[in-house]
Amino acid sequence: MKLICIGRNYAEHAKEMDSAIPTEPIFFLKPDTAVIKDNQPFYYPDFSKEIHHEVELIIKISKAGKNIDPEFANKYYDEIGIGIDFTARDIQNKCKEKGLPWEKAKAFDGSAPIGQFIDKKNISDLSDINFHLTINENTVQKGNTKDLLFSFDTIIAYVSKFFTLKTGDLIFTGTPEGVGPVAIGDKLEAYIENKKLLSFEIK
Ligand code: MG
Repeated sequence: MKLICIGRNYAEHAKEMDSAIPTEPIFFLKPDTAVIKDNQPFYYPDFSKEIHHEVELIIKISKAGKNIDPEFANKYYDEIGIGIDFTARDIQNKCKEKGLPWEKAKAFDGSAPIGQFIDKKNISDLSDINFHLTINENTVQKGNTKDLLFSFDTIIAYVSKFFTLKTGDLIFTGTPEGVGPVAIGDKLEAYIENKKLLSFEIK
């Protein structure tokens, strides 16, 4: 199973990062060792002093495909979930400065907590999904898929030109604005609409 993460897919987040708005999807991978399931805690790693939360909707791939036509992309997923693309921002900034790959900052163990998934049949409009993240019960990030630069179907079509998608692969679809640091002791909870699908602590 692989995790494919889309970067800068919300314009307001690209702005807060002082990054250009992309003209085609930007993506990177995380290994399966990044996944945290079942609301298990995230252990703050000792190699970073600046771990940031990025709450993101996740597409779960339900059948294998390559070179998928955007028109048929919706047949390749049945479930949507929510997770965190944890980022060691201090390390990422150093990598960016030197033009080095981001993996150390993005793909480390535990960098991808994922919550429960919901059947997309229960979502009336995939291009109007509200989601948000709270830390210690305060809302810190809020997004809606109407603000996606690249839709779920566009992402699937684009990524599948390069990588064969397999059943169970997860695509993190990008974070809205409001990213920021987490600290030991914080409780993070992520919601699609008013449904809490992820809840865990930083230890
Ligand atoms: Mg992200």
